[in-house]
Amino acid sequence: MKALLRELNPADLKFIIEKEFNLDFHKFLEQRRLNSFYQKRLREIIRERQKNKPLEYILRKSCFFGLDLYIDERVFIPRPETELLIEAFLEFTEKKKELSVLDIGAGSANIPICIALSRPSFRVFSVDISNLALEVAKKNVSLYKLKNLFLVNSDLVSCFKENSFDIIISNPPYVESFYFQRNSALSFEPKISLDGGEDGLVFVRRILNEANPCLKKEGLLFLEIGYNQKDRVLAYAEGKNYRLLSIIKDYAGIERVVIFKSVKG
Ligand code: GLN
Repeated sequence: MKALLRELNPADLKFIIEKEFNLDFHKFLEQRRLNSFYQKRLREIIRERQKNKPLEYILRKSCFFGLDLYIDERVFIPRPETELLIEAFLEFTEKKKELSVLDIGAGSANIPICIALSRPSFRVFSVDISNLALEVAKKNVSLYKLKNLFLVNSDLVSCFKENSFDIIISNPPYVESFYFQRNSALSFEPKISLDGGEDGLVFVRRILNEANPCLKKEGLLFLEIGYNQKDRVLAYAEGKNYRLLSIIKDYAGIERVVIFKSVKG
């Protein structure tokens, strides 16, 4: 049993014990024992982990902003840095009522679910170009029985009219293409959800161009960006009728979230 447990890092072990086995982790640490059913399952999980498959895909579970989500290879795994995007959104929308919000790139629907749950008076739309991703998103939305969240298949904002939204929020694909050849950790995830083209900014540029007409006057745009992208994003937004409101750093000190206000006439 001890040898078995050494095969896993502590964070993975905790996730399995709590989320897959529904056991109390502290009790487990005291006893360091599992019945034969759980031991068998643990062996299966370890076998999959040894092929480098992310634990979330093995268990088909992910935890984001304290919420349990269904996950499989049709969507990428929500990252902790995206929780900052949610925190920023909640801070800026405190005491606001009945706003209309668009999330671009639904994926597992982690972002729109957090928003729709935290702001029940808002109407939240979430788009994805991938129907496969939307199937997973739909499953999660029904898990949380949300009445104020609507999933739509759309290439970014293309299916919405002008002046539709108070807020647009997105964690777009922003990883530079070359990174995928080097980094096998990403090889299990759908490239379409992470690949931001040669310089990583293909979708960020498109969003900066296409979001503004869709935003209402003085609407807000919340974007998650990559570790080396802040300067280029700000330079690109220059002269496009946005005013920078805030830049938020992640726990590693990397500028991770930018917030713009639309200042179109
Ligand atoms: N933060 C993710 C990563 O570095 C990328 C997320 C994205 O492309 N939106 O793996």
